[in-house]
Parts: sequence; structure tokens; C-alpha cells
Amino acid sequence: MKEGLFDLNGKVAIVTGGNGGIGLGMARGLAAAGAAVAIVGRNEAKSVAAVAELTQGNARAISVVADVTDKEAVAAMTARVTAELGRIDILVNNAGINIRKPPHALDIAEWNSVMATNLTSAFLCSQAVYPAMKEAGGGKIINIGSMMSIFGASFAPAYAASKGGIVQFTRSCAVAWAGDNIQANAVLPGWIDTDLTKRARQEIDGLHDRVLTRTPAARWGAIGDFAGIAVFLASPASDFVTGTAIPVDGGYSIMG
Ligand code: NDP
Repeated sequence: MKEGLFDLNGKVAIVTGGNGGIGLGMARGLAAAGAAVAIVGRNEAKSVAAVAELTQGNARAISVVADVTDKEAVAAMTARVTAELGRIDILVNNAGINIRKPPHALDIAEWNSVMATNLTSAFLCSQAVYPAMKEAGGGKIINIGSMMSIFGASFAPAYAASKGGIVQFTRSCAVAWAGDNIQANAVLPGWIDTDLTKRARQEIDGLHDRVLTRTPAARWGAIGDFAGIAVFLASPASDFVTGTAIPVDGGYSIMG
């Protein structure tokens, strides 16, 4: 077996939306495997707290305040990561929002905001890190999709469209950059207990129990469920894995 299959020592990772939820779960995994981590978000206090937690565990981490829908902010963010951490090996495009309305009620500003945060940001960040990854001789891009990359959702038309787009964008980068030794993969979370789903759980009658019944693992996902998949897709263990979309959902997507 290859030495250091899951070893990320000496590697530098950017995690957008890494200051909470699934992004923080992934950042914890990457840091535990040895990577230096840049936590990117708009909320400085949350990002600084996440960095404090990671550095207490002896990881190297920095907080970068940036809105990942803004091309210039993304360029400044990647420049800062390169200046302070020296290189970029791993990008986790995780920042995301949802606006819960059916297609007939969603206005254009809401549509644009969901598409910009969930899909355009992945394009901007991937394009921004590509030169550094190419120069380093390879890299790993991990894009966060959803079950709604596969299923339709009456209450999340822009969200589902953006998450479907994430899978196709992932495949396109995987094909385009395979020759540069860059692997791009998507992760499709099921129902996970985070701020993003908190309001839905409060407002949709019976949602909590419906998720338990429909999920073979019979529980909601936790952010700790994302540490392992992050390490796998960021490490040499996945060097021949590219363009895939891997559900992390307790079996939700295999239920008819
Ligand atoms: P959270 O709301 O907990 O986290 C979202 C993160 O995105 C926050 O850290 C937020 O930080 C960041 N963010 C949002 N907009 C921007 C922006 N414009 N620029 C920079 N950062 C931004 O949600 P989750 O952890 O649940 O979601 C993470 C990802 O997982 C999303 O892509 C989501 O769609 C996906 N997902 C989640 C599921 C779930 O059940 N929870 C299911 C399927 C997919 P800040 O506010 O500081 O900007």
C-alpha cells in the first residue's frame, strides 16, 4: 500500500463557509490530517472562532473574510492564502444558502443570490486557485452539492438548479484539469443538522420525523460525518477518483 495515503501534512486547504456547519466539519478533518486551513466566510467573528478551535488542536489556520460571490474578493482571498500559507493544494467549495419558495413565488433577485452563492462562487474560486494548483503539480477540488443535485424540490427551485449545476461543473473541471493532476469531485449531503436546515425543521411540520423514517441510517447527519470524506477526497487516497458525486446521506438517496 502507498505510504501516507491519507496524509495532508504540508498541504494547504481553503474551505469556503468553513466557519460553521458542514464546512467546519470538513475543516476539522483536513486539519486533523495535517493540512493548514484557510477558513473563508463573511462573518469575521465566526471565522476567528473556528480558527481558534483549529489552532488549539495544533493545526495551522487563518481566517479570511470574503464574499465568495465577488470575483475581486475571491482574487484577494486566494492571494492572501498564498502569501500567508505559501501554496494552495485543496479547495472546498462549500458556501451555500437556500431561499425556500416555490418557483412561482421566487423573484429574480432571490434566484440570482442563490445561484451566485451556490454555483458561481464555485466557478470563481476554482478558476482563482487553478494557477496555484497547476504550478504545484496537482490539486483537489471538493464541491458541495446536495440530494437536490438529483431530486427536484418544490420549495427550492434555485437551490436544486444550483446543486444540479455543481455536479456538471465538477465533471467539467475534472475533465479539463485531469492533465494537470487536479481531481474534482462533488459531495452530496443528505439532511444534516446545521443552521441551514434549522428554520426548515422549525417551520415544516413533521420534517424532523420524516427524515428519520426516510433515511436508512434513521438519523439526521452531523457535521462530524463530513471529516472523513473531506480527508479522502483531499488526499492521495483519491488520486484516481475524479468527476464523481458521492452521497453522504445515511442512504437517503437509495430509498425509493
Ligand atoms: P450553514 O448555513 O451552516 O453554512 C453555510 C456557510 O456558508 C456559512 O459558513 C456561511 O458563512 C457561508 N456563506 C454563505 N454565503 C457566503 C458568501 N457569499 N461568501 C462566503 N461564505 C458564505 O450551512 P450548511 O453547513 O448546512 O451548508 C454547507 C453546504 O452544504 C452548502 O453548500 C449547502 O447547500 C450544503 N448542503 C447542506 C445540507 C444540510 O442538510 N445542511 C444538505 C445538502 C447540502 P458566513 O455567514 O460567514 O458567510
